[in-house]
Parts: sequence; structure tokens; C-alpha cells
Amino acid sequence: MRASTLTDVGEITVEERERPEPAADEVLVEVGACSVCMTDYHMYHGTFPIETPLVPGHEAAGTVADVGSDVTGFEAGDRVAVNPTVPCNACSYCKRGETHLCENNTSIGGAGDTILDGAFAEYVRVPAINVEDIGDMSFERAALAEPLACCVHGVEQVDLTPSDSVAIIGAGPIGLLLLQAFRNAGAAPIVVSELDPERRELAAELGADAVIDPDEVDPEEAIPEAAGGPVDVGVEAIGLVPTIEQANAVTTKGGSTLIFGVPEQDATLEVSPFDVFFDEVGYRGSYSLTTEDFERAITMLRYGRVDADSLITERIGLDELPTAFERMGDAEGLKKVVVPDRD
Ligand SMILES: [Zn+2]
Ligand SMILES: [Zn+2]
Repeated sequence: MRASTLTDVGEITVEERERPEPAADEVLVEVGACSVCMTDYHMYHGTFPIETPLVPGHEAAGTVADVGSDVTGFEAGDRVAVNPTVPCNACSYCKRGETHLCENNTSIGGAGDTILDGAFAEYVRVPAINVEDIGDMSFERAALAEPLACCVHGVEQVDLTPSDSVAIIGAGPIGLLLLQAFRNAGAAPIVVSELDPERRELAAELGADAVIDPDEVDPEEAIPEAAGGPVDVGVEAIGLVPTIEQANAVTTKGGSTLIFGVPEQDATLEVSPFDVFFDEVGYRGSYSLTTEDFERAITMLRYGRVDADSLITERIGLDELPTAFERMGDAEGLKKVVVPDRD
């Protein structure tokens, strides 16, 4: 089989590899689609250090091609999405259902302490507990179940009551999925701040009640103005300290500021303990997804609660990843999806 393999920082080549055999508790998935994520981008650029060689790609869906001897729930031909977070099911976090915090943090192609070969390949091995039936939905749409599940997880991290107001700073693919996840949870109004005019337009189409251009107006004034006051939840979906501070500045007393975008590992944030005390504004983080979030994301996609198709702007082959990473660096387009049988 062919597999896009990271061999060093900035080096990715399509290798011919043996088609893997599933272990007793695994299924082998023929990859139908695997979307490209900023994590892949950071692995490629060395800003998320990994051991090479590695096949990245953790947002995948496809067809079961083979099953291990102990697998009973799936058979060849089943259409599935892949949850890349492999729980050990033995640590206290897993036992509490917090599989994303697993002490033996393992990912199929994504961020983790242990990273297994991922899905920028024709086939990927996956534990049977990590695949979810997708019915007849397209592989491309199903590939977005992973990022959507992360966003569902983000909504669960804050105490949201229907009609709570939300501000989302940054409307890249993740900001646009967060917008839809919060909308599904009943948030209103939702204000989105985004530099790019096309992304702003799409945010409005996907249900933002107001969109603002932070180049034109000061978000710290314009967001409360559009939302009728400071918001219950301020969400940062970029990963930069100034925009995290901005999200916090527009969060109301008693509200939550959600750090969703991935900050640099050595970034620091100044927090006034008095403000936390006096205004009861809490910072919350949201990392990855649980097994439950993944199942919920699949259901939302299956029943059309989220428009994932509008976020897919490019289909590429296994050999086109380096140029796709360049376009991601320039924030060109939205989701790029690798379709392995394309070339
Ligand atoms: Zn991802
Ligand atoms: Zn665990």
C-alpha cells in the first residue's frame, strides 16, 4: 500500500509499504478520506515534535477491509469513521470516561504520548472499539467527525444553558465547527470575530448572529455591543495569547473563557487572581475528545445538525500534502481532505 510518511522535519514522502494485518482486536480500514489538521501541519514543521518515521493523519473514515480474529461487531465492507484516541481502559481517567486524559495517551496518527501510524495511507489498523458505524454518509463528511467531536467536547467544558451568549475568536475550520456545536447546544446570540472576509461570510451563513472584522473594529468593544453585553462564554479558537486575553476581556462576570486553539507549549498568560476572585471568571481548557463525544459527533453529522460539507474546500492525493501545508500556513481555503485513491 502507499503511505505518506514523515521521515524528518519538513520531509514527507509517499512510501510503498506492506499492507498491515489487523491484530486480534483490530480492524483494517481502507481509507476513504482523511482530513488534514493543524496538528499534521505542526508535526510536519517540527513545532509538534514526533519520532519519525511516522504516517500522520487522524481524521479518517473508510471501509472495513479485514477484521482480527476476536472482532465480532464489524465485518469487511462496513463503512466506519475512525476515532484516533485509543483509551487504555485501565487507568482511573479511562474508568471515569475521561478517555482523552488517559495516562497511556495513545493516538492513531494524532497528538499523543504514543503515536501509532495514521491514515494518510491506503490502509490503517484501528482497534475495533475505535471505529463507529457511519451509515451511508460520505467518507469526507465522516472524516470531520473527529474535529467536530473536539468541538462537542469544548461545549461540554463550559456550563452552557440555552440562550447563553457566546463569542468565538477565529473562524477557521475549528471556529466554524465550534459555532455550529454551540448553536446546537442553544447558545444565543453567537458573535464571531475573524479577519478573513470569506470566513466571516461563511460564519454568517452557518448561523453566527453577528460577525465582526477585528481589523476594522475593536473586538473588546464590538463583541459586547453585538451581543448586548459581555458574553457568557468567550471562546478562543486560534491559540494566541492576545486573542485569549481578548476572549477573556469580553467574558461576563461568572462566565467562562474557553482556551480551545492550541497555544505554544511555552506561552504564558498573565492572570489577575483578584479578577478571577471578584468577577468569578474562569479559564477552561478543552483538549481532544472522549469516546462519547465521537459518537455524538457522528450522530450530529448523520442527522444534518452540522454542515461539514461547506468546510471542505479541497480534495488532494497522498503526494500533495507538502503543498497543502503551504496553503494552510497562508490560511488559504478551509479543510483539505486526502482521498488516497485519487492518484
Ligand atoms: Zn485534528
Ligand atoms: Zn487510560
